[in-house]
Amino acid sequence: MLRNPAVVENLWSLNDAIVSQGIPDSAFTLRVSDGDRYRDCAGRIVSASDDRPVRDSAQTSRHLYENGAVAVDLVVTGINMRTFRLALSTTSFDPRRTLSNYRNNPHVHIELPTLYNLPLNAVPDQLTGRKDVCR
Ligand SMILES: [Zn+2]
Repeated sequence: MLRNPAVVENLWSLNDAIVSQGIPDSAFTLRVSDGDRYRDCAGRIVSASDDRPVRDSAQTSRHLYENGAVAVDLVVTGINMRTFRLALSTTSFDPRRTLSNYRNNPHVHIELPTLYNLPLNAVPDQLTGRKDVCR
């Protein structure tokens, strides 16, 4: 689940920027392995896609709606990290916030700057982390 339109737009830009390096669209994949998260009424960080706990999530994760939902995790195949990073540099994703050293769950985490935060009022109340909607 990716509710933030800026994230989706920049993923398309990223894909286009890889193709622009001469790599055919059919030769590589950018698979979204994780997107939006929220804090449930028990305080657990859960995926907005399946409402299941995300065990290794950082408490300050920017996958969370309360932190802007500007992050996306990708499983990248068919291109090397140099090509990926070069393409990424043409998008609005913040290169300083790119992480790929996940040993148990290999993926690349990328995120947009706070400027692109999804406003909380664009999110259903129960996904905002607000305690007053819990009962
Ligand atoms: Zn991530």
